[in-house]
Amino acid sequence: MLIVQKFGGTSVGNLDRIANVAKRVSESKKAGNDVVVVVSAMSGETNKLVGYAEHFSSNPSKAEMDMLLSSGERVTASLLSIALNEMGHSSVAMTGRKAGIITDTSHTKARIKKINPELMNSEIKDGKIIVVAGFQGVNSQGDITTLGRGGSDLSAVAIAGAIGADLCEIYTDVSGIYTTDPRIEPKAKKLNNISYDEMLELASLGAKVLQNRSVEMAKKLNVNLVTRTSFSYEEGTLITKEENIMEAPLVSGIALDKNQARISLMGVKDKPGIASDIFNKLAKAEVNIDVIIQNTAHDGTTNIDFTVPVSDLSEAKLVVDLFVENGDIKDDSYNEKICKVSVVGVGMKSHAGVAARAFSTMAEENININMISTSEIKVSMVIDEKYAELAVRSLHNAYELDK
Ligand code: ADP
Ligand code: ASP
Ligand code: MG
Repeated sequence: MLIVQKFGGTSVGNLDRIANVAKRVSESKKAGNDVVVVVSAMSGETNKLVGYAEHFSSNPSKAEMDMLLSSGERVTASLLSIALNEMGHSSVAMTGRKAGIITDTSHTKARIKKINPELMNSEIKDGKIIVVAGFQGVNSQGDITTLGRGGSDLSAVAIAGAIGADLCEIYTDVSGIYTTDPRIEPKAKKLNNISYDEMLELASLGAKVLQNRSVEMAKKLNVNLVTRTSFSYEEGTLITKEENIMEAPLVSGIALDKNQARISLMGVKDKPGIASDIFNKLAKAEVNIDVIIQNTAHDGTTNIDFTVPVSDLSEAKLVVDLFVENGDIKDDSYNEKICKVSVVGVGMKSHAGVAARAFSTMAEENININMISTSEIKVSMVIDEKYAELAVRSLHNAYELDK
């Protein structure tokens, strides 16, 4: 088999763990597989580098940030390759550029435009174990780019698609995808399999176990994705097409996103095109909008509330300021002390009452729901951040996910 194995930050968190990864990779190779490895930076390393930059600037250039942040992955890729060579394997470390990962120019959240796999393919043919530095690519100008936080997952899936791998294994510090974050609810159960769509919702709604863009890519390229742990040989979770799953449960999981902020726009001029104008300018600034609420107009003005990732807040403020200056918005306020809890499941499509149960669970715990958004397979609620864990546990219990 041709396998891509991706090892996350905790799996390569220190030298002993890198040695453990080398052992696991070696075992796969000796079992007769061709292996391409993708690694993250050591855990905490990327945040440390962000901190270094913030020491000098509150708004550092994004191109410089990419050059800085991509260095963490190069450290682990080279160390792992050195370890594998020492074990008698023939291994070569590659940067994103050498692996042929071409992206657009959107620094710090670049999109992969294409992958030129020729060099990887010829090294595989020669029996080499390739170790690719995850999270990075190169744009048409030759600048280093990064793929958004958690982006090594995306590197792995995209490479698996480009070289036609039979399997893409994502090794992390938990043994698979659980019904909710096992760190919040120890009673969470590991799922044997989950559909791409449900995983995409969970990941987009805060379950950071997989980067959402990597799941999107896996679905698009039909990559067989397995999440498992590098700390044991326990079987993981298969992420696959919905039709491969015999009977979808009503609810598969609960996700929590604490990195959300609420923006409230008061006294917005109630005229045609205003919402389009505001949200187009936000989109241009690459601000990701989620739940939106617009109140009925009153005295020629209305209120619009929406949520954005905390990391997009400063960009969003700049856009909103323009509308406040020209008088189209009277006042604005920001609240970072919110979170979003979501119930996800494809079974919802054919069952009524799933959302109602979520709302009554919040009511029983006396948790006020600030905003609601739903789709065919999810119900999201924006609530006060201090109730985050309580909400997750109560919902997990209400849908009997521990059974
Ligand atoms: P890595 O460094 O390997 O990329 P991450 O920290 O990005 O690992 O993701 C793994 C973490 O995701 C777990 O430690 C767990 O706390 C968290 N997590 C959140 N939701 C879930 C879930 N539904 N199932 C499993 N893990 C989850
Ligand atoms: N090191 C990067 C991050 O922390 C990418 C990754 O780990 O996937 O976001
Ligand atoms: Mg991760």
